[in-house]
Amino acid sequence: MDSKNAALKRIAVIPGDGIGKEVIPQAVKAIQATGAAVELTEFDWGSDRYLRDQTTVPPDGFAMLTRDFDAVLVGAFGDPRVKTNIHAKEILLGMRFKMDLYANVRPVRLLDAALCPLKGVEPKDVDFVVLRENTEGVYTDAGGVFKQGTSDEIATQEDINTRKGVERIIRYAFEYCQTHSKLDGSPRSKVLMSDKSNAMTHAGGLWQRVFKEVSAGYSAITAQHMYVDALCMQMVRDPRQFDVIVTNNMFGDIITDLAAGLQGGLGMAASGNIHPGKTSMFEPVHGSAPPIAGKNEANPFGAILTAAMLLRHLEFTKEADRIEAAVLEAVRQKKTTQDIGGSLGTREAGNWIANRLSS
Ligand code: ATP
Repeated sequence: MDSKNAALKRIAVIPGDGIGKEVIPQAVKAIQATGAAVELTEFDWGSDRYLRDQTTVPPDGFAMLTRDFDAVLVGAFGDPRVKTNIHAKEILLGMRFKMDLYANVRPVRLLDAALCPLKGVEPKDVDFVVLRENTEGVYTDAGGVFKQGTSDEIATQEDINTRKGVERIIRYAFEYCQTHSKLDGSPRSKVLMSDKSNAMTHAGGLWQRVFKEVSAGYSAITAQHMYVDALCMQMVRDPRQFDVIVTNNMFGDIITDLAAGLQGGLGMAASGNIHPGKTSMFEPVHGSAPPIAGKNEANPFGAILTAAMLLRHLEFTKEADRIEAAVLEAVRQKKTTQDIGGSLGTREAGNWIANRLSS
């Protein structure tokens, strides 16, 4: 859709904590510099607000986001001053669970060979996507502790897998494969489901059965399976083989940090938390990174690429393309923060992108 013809889209912006407060303003500048027909509204949910008035999510907060906004742009949550991390859990996991954002979409793309720690790996070799189930698994916090603090202490953490939950993320993966092409324009053609069903037989068994059933409906797509431990090794040995990967909440969390390593580190990785047809949320893969927070050191490109994902989701295709091209240009010209070889600060790297987009 051409932005001129698009209705004004409403975006809620929640920078959150730590480096979230530094990188999200850069992503906002990039969105504004594209001239996309959007209205941005900022919210102060995060540790400062929690420490001030004990609010994690204001009453009606999630319903308000769903009702009043087309998309949400989020930074990161986590602050050493909040030892329980309760605000992060209630805000971030709350959004994922209560807004039912079941598909965590994490594209893994190498923009420049210099960013990859592997020998002889080119941008064309790293272009896959991880689809992580986002509303179930061990992150539901089911379980408990018995006889805490004694030598008889027992802790359980249940891995919740519903047929509905497993089926919808696997179906999403096949639909994604069918409707998305690779960066070079060639069609996507393979969906790989990863689990640990040799050891976790109950949950793994459900994933295996559902994967078999759903894949039967997509005969043009190659269905593959790999145990998650083998997947970690293969991702490092030969990332070329991957196309679309679908997995559960925890494995998806872990393998996308590994995958971020292929892209140049956590500062380069973008993600979307999607429920098709509902208000979805977009956030960089990295967390609040307390050791580097407030130092103008954090790489804003993961957040800026996340803004591009959000715009693409709202069908501002040209604007998203322009942001991605500007980041690629910055990487090639080393107009970047130090983590990926440049010498700019967070703000300066963000300004470079905004200027590029405005010119
Ligand atoms: P979470 O569990 O919330 O994802 P985490 O503790 O696993 O967070 P991060 O907060 O993402 O991890 O960061 C870990 C480290 O990675 C940081 O301390 C920092 O060194 C590096 N890092 C993360 N994000 C960035 C960034 N945008 N730019 C530069 N370095 C980063």
